[in-house]
Amino acid sequence: MKYLAEFRNGEIAQRLAAEIRRLTTRPWAIMEVCGGQTHSIIRNGIDQLLPPEIELIHGPGCPVCVTPLEVIDKALAIASRPDVIFCSFGDMLRVPGSHKDLFRVKGEGGDVRVVYSPLDAVAIARDNPHKQVVFFGIGFETTAPANAMAVVVAKRQGLKNFSMLVSHVLVPPALEAILNSPANRVQAFLAAGHVCTVMGYWQYPPLAEKYHTPIVVTGFEPLDLLEGIRRAVRQLEAGEACVENAYPRAVTFEGNRPAQRMLAEVFELTDRAWRGIGVIPNSGWRLRDAYREFDAEARFDVAGIHTQESPICRSGDVLQGKIKPYECPAFGKQCTPRTPLGATMVSSEGACAAYYNYGRFA
Ligand code: SF4
Repeated sequence: MKYLAEFRNGEIAQRLAAEIRRLTTRPWAIMEVCGGQTHSIIRNGIDQLLPPEIELIHGPGCPVCVTPLEVIDKALAIASRPDVIFCSFGDMLRVPGSHKDLFRVKGEGGDVRVVYSPLDAVAIARDNPHKQVVFFGIGFETTAPANAMAVVVAKRQGLKNFSMLVSHVLVPPALEAILNSPANRVQAFLAAGHVCTVMGYWQYPPLAEKYHTPIVVTGFEPLDLLEGIRRAVRQLEAGEACVENAYPRAVTFEGNRPAQRMLAEVFELTDRAWRGIGVIPNSGWRLRDAYREFDAEARFDVAGIHTQESPICRSGDVLQGKIKPYECPAFGKQCTPRTPLGATMVSSEGACAAYYNYGRFA
């Protein structure tokens, strides 16, 4: 298949791995930001192709994983109401809240529906004028434009029974928080190609310069990742710290300007809590005043719900690259994909799920 098979060529992968081995003279720690990249790395054994000096640290770029427990609890409270149709992408249904998940709410009679687009939720609102329809709007810059568009469409259609539970987070502030952490070990980043498809990479040069840290925009196929690592290692060995685009078939410097305009129209910056990490200033979006009427948190009065994270789950440490999933004492014991204690074991982009599903127990 075009753009897939050609980026999974084993011979080229071996050549790139050999070039990385040739370039590497000392230990380097490189973070792949996105959970989709983490899964590709583990599934394809890319980390095992690298010289032992190169450590890949798995980053916080999994939207399901970083959505705070208290946002899940707010979703559960709203979804449990008899007057609500609660719409979400399927990957949120098994994410555990304090006491249950959305599947349980559905099993108890709640009207919880899986949709494939936020516009589906707008259509459900149009078709069910006597119900309140809520869409669970989480994720990074990748999913936010479609969510913004859904709110604009709902406003244009004059829908009074549609709202969105918004918990959007942004990549650049998370990278800066990681770099500012006293425990930081990351020396270079593989930036997430799909985020940059929307946002471009014009936000990254100031970060690379300020923290003297190479950033390589990278895709998701094995050759994309190996090329990203090769470029990062080349920069590190040369003492350079610039931004490179190793995913030019999808990413431009400017990104998708119409999508960025849509985001700016609907959302404004806000402080956001990241699950297991804590509040990062200006790291998320919320609805602007002009669209605040679509804010489910205000409509259903759940802003007062506050929840403590589980003391057992160390997903915050996993998401910051402080530990590997198998170093969590609960990994593969109390916590498995069937009995998840944290979102990183549930999500298809979660590092704990990747290590469990591909048998990485040490
Ligand atoms: S293995 Fe489970 S309990 Fe441990 S960090 Fe991962 S999700 Fe949390």
